[in-house]
Amino acid sequence: MDETLRNIGENLDRLCTVTVRPQGTGQAVIRHLYDAAREKLRDPLTMLAAQRLLGVLRPGEAVMIATGAGIEDFLPAGETDGPLGAAAMAWALANGAGAIPVFVTEAEYVENVAATALAAGLGRRDFDAARRVPGTCVVLPFPADDTAEPVARQYVDRYQPQAIIAIEKLGPNAVGVAHTATGLPTGKSRARAEAIFDLAASCDILTVGIGDNGNEIGCGTVIDAVRKYKEHGAVCRCPCGQGIATRVATDVLVLAGTSNWGGYGVAAALAASLGRPELLHSADVERFMLQECVRTGAADGSSGRHTLSVDGTPGIVQTSMLEMMRAVITIGLQPPRKRPF
Ligand SMILES: [Zn+2]
Repeated sequence: MDETLRNIGENLDRLCTVTVRPQGTGQAVIRHLYDAAREKLRDPLTMLAAQRLLGVLRPGEAVMIATGAGIEDFLPAGETDGPLGAAAMAWALANGAGAIPVFVTEAEYVENVAATALAAGLGRRDFDAARRVPGTCVVLPFPADDTAEPVARQYVDRYQPQAIIAIEKLGPNAVGVAHTATGLPTGKSRARAEAIFDLAASCDILTVGIGDNGNEIGCGTVIDAVRKYKEHGAVCRCPCGQGIATRVATDVLVLAGTSNWGGYGVAAALAASLGRPELLHSADVERFMLQECVRTGAADGSSGRHTLSVDGTPGIVQTSMLEMMRAVITIGLQPPRKRPF
């Protein structure tokens, strides 16, 4: 890995792993999970994800992005964490690598993910039109029942994704039960996206996971650390008793204080790698995405309220994180200069 990009990646990782949580919700967990991931993957995680993605994506080919976390009563159209990070990466990959983003999410969240992607500046088409029209994406429902495996096969055959990304997408534990971060089983509407990742692993498609608790697809890469450090990681609050740590691993895992920030970190790393800082979305777009995500039903995952916030932090924190990342890549890419004083 190029030394400049490595340094930028280290700083993007530091930014996106900042933890802003109340007492008792695991303020130190992400630091431990991050250390475990670095031990395994060596390189800065955001930059590693970007480099691996750019290594396999070709113009006109699909990149599949799974997102969507909710629970029927409290988050019936999903939450504000996930869709924005997914859309930010999709924008950078579409405009930087010519990839066609194919989002998969719960049928109930399709409108929400599509509205967020549109707010990012992406058009929405069917796949054939998306191949002809630059800067467009596809948004598909993914099943929550036993048809997940055949549909995963159908999607992979049809769209031939070169890489598959999960961001804030809950995955099952070793006995097949997926849990919320508080140790309770997820609702019946959870799209069983692990079927896509299991298939990708069996046919050697690059996979990237982004998570902020340890129960998200990708965190199986550091399952021992999740079981050790995350409350309910090894013992959940449901009859399965096997903990919230997911079994689903990915080739690259990005950890973040809020999953969206991990997505922005990967987008920033993509922008830096391509020498095009403008590929990281603007603060205006960030605000618009959050408004559209909430307007179409998403709620803050920490409160269940339909407010302009993500995981308990207000919109200004999201744009501040974004601007810090932008400074890291734009200034970090500038050539060396001597001060005249
Ligand atoms: Zn359980």
